Amino acid sequence: MEAAIVNLIQPDDAIIVWINGIFGTRLASMVERCGGQVIPLAVPWGQPLDPEHIEHHLKATKHIKAVAIVHAETSTDVLQPLEHIGQLGQQHEALYIVDTVTTLGGMEVHGDAWHIDVCYSATQKCLSYPPGVAPITFSDRAVQCIRRRQAVCTSWYLDCSLISDYWSESRRTNHHTAPISMTYALRESLRLIQEEGLEARIARH
Ligand SMILES: *Cc1c(COP(=O)(O)O)cnc(C)c1O
Repeated sequence: MEAAIVNLIQPDDAIIVWINGIFGTRLASMVERCGGQVIPLAVPWGQPLDPEHIEHHLKATKHIKAVAIVHAETSTDVLQPLEHIGQLGQQHEALYIVDTVTTLGGMEVHGDAWHIDVCYSATQKCLSYPPGVAPITFSDRAVQCIRRRQAVCTSWYLDCSLISDYWSESRRTNHHTAPISMTYALRESLRLIQEEGLEARIARH
């Protein structure tokens, strides 16, 4: 969650955060800590949000940098349908950030088909392996946004421009010592998912 926010958000960026539970509240707090301006879309806890609500805000406010949403708000059990929001984000040039911490490996998650720009998840929920690393994806739009940013990323450890220099074949600039044991654990958990079959696993959850 923090890697998504610190890499994309610069001071004064306006971000719509849908808040209907603890994790939406945490997202908003992270945006504020980066100097971003939160436009909260709050509904009573226990209810999903209506995409028309978001369209209204995207039309009414100019230069919204991103929309951030929790796919399944674990604190209340609410699943948020995600399909149409990505297209709205593209129409209004807002990035689409989605928390799939509790859904990846247990429900359908389609990063590209749903036009998600940054999709982060976790290891300790439906992927069923120890906490310590987190999967995250960045679309081409998100990568360009990171490359163009002017303010330096407020986190050194999570700065994806530094991390991509580490991956880079030409540069290979050392960044940090990766948790190697976690990478083995991730491989094993993915092997177990493969063995069970993703569809069977989703049905089981
Ligand atoms: C569990 C969870 C997180 C954060 O995970 P931690 O266990 O606090 O590291 C974030 N978002 C959602 C939706 C979660 O369920």
